[in-house]
Amino acid sequence: MKNFRHIFIYILTIYILTSCVENKTLYETYFTDQRARINIVFQGDAYSQKASIKEIYKESVWSGSKNNLVDTLYYGEYRYSLYTKDGQLIFSKGFNNLFSEWRTIEQAKLTTNEFVESHWIPFPKQIVDFVLYYRDKSSGEFEELHRETIDPNSKNISIPKEFNYQIDTIQYSGNFSNKVDIVFVAEGYSHNESDKFKDDVNRATEYLFSMEPYSTRRSDFNVWALNSFNDQDDKTPLSSTFSTFGIDRYLTIPDHSSLGAILHNSHNDAVYILVNSSQYGGGGIYNYYAIGVSDHNLYGELFVHEFGHSFGGLGDEYYSSQVAYEEFYNLNIEPWEPNLTTRVNFSNKWESLINKETPIPTPNSYEYKNTIGLFEGGGYMSKDIYRPYLTCRMKENSAPDFCPVCIRAINKIIDSYVK
Ligand SMILES: [Zn+2]
Repeated sequence: MKNFRHIFIYILTIYILTSCVENKTLYETYFTDQRARINIVFQGDAYSQKASIKEIYKESVWSGSKNNLVDTLYYGEYRYSLYTKDGQLIFSKGFNNLFSEWRTIEQAKLTTNEFVESHWIPFPKQIVDFVLYYRDKSSGEFEELHRETIDPNSKNISIPKEFNYQIDTIQYSGNFSNKVDIVFVAEGYSHNESDKFKDDVNRATEYLFSMEPYSTRRSDFNVWALNSFNDQDDKTPLSSTFSTFGIDRYLTIPDHSSLGAILHNSHNDAVYILVNSSQYGGGGIYNYYAIGVSDHNLYGELFVHEFGHSFGGLGDEYYSSQVAYEEFYNLNIEPWEPNLTTRVNFSNKWESLINKETPIPTPNSYEYKNTIGLFEGGGYMSKDIYRPYLTCRMKENSAPDFCPVCIRAINKIIDSYVK
């Protein structure tokens, strides 16, 4: 009897050891501890687009998850995947960009434009195929846009030398591989405003962690402050501007690859560009960046809303404001954002969270303020797009919280970094 128990424990030990090894195998087989920054050029207009790799840099450390390498959320207008030479998928990530937003405005019907942007992958040990996909507007499915082989030993891969801005620790919870690393980038702060920048980052951080689900998940985050201060007082490092696409409060940066260069020595799972200004404005694009001002009294509200876009992949639940986008959502397909639905494939969204007694669609009345339902209006349209809750931080700054569906979606994203 005793022997059998020993054998059983022996087998169990072998099993546990083997499964630990297997969990690490995918990352360690194919990637080094470093990462590559890939600058991609997107070109086109409202009708067509193309993309290619402009340059590749070898950077310090991969700060993303080493266990969760293949994205299963399928968010974003774009997606890139890495394949081994025998066709095994070893990494993928979805994202959105300013180019895809620009393609929906009137100007894109008249002229072409070019955007250069930075994306990161764990640094491959062997030759891989990098494949970029775009989401087809009429089918909602991903289609191949560009395919290129990356040779990790290529002489064309360079080491960035541009900047070495000081990075301060605001909150440290543990090793970057198992944490969400938020980096705040200083925009429009001079060298003698370093204390102000740190105070502003601390205020924004405390605001974020005062709200669910961030307050419960606080120990899953590291927070860093990147001191990208101005050399000259008249110049901001990222040249951020208000009034993007004619919307006064839409704040963006014109060149995403300049942000990529500034971030080269940081852990940057999620980026917030903090703009030293009191004018109201911000923006947030999924797995791209979020940006907002420091000195407006709604700085905290702005931060968590824009971060909801960039980190959580959440859509706007409002529909009353004037926006420049034309036909932003195709009503014949299900939007990819987890908090909006056209009812084309509602069972993949929050349908299972709705009680049987709740009327569908759910009236936009105060009576249903604490009810998960199907409320008409969202995604810049008052008809035929639906949101989950009467109000939410993705709808308006005056809402007390994120709605339960957004909270669930943010938790899912946090899980993808820490597990
Ligand atoms: Zn919501």
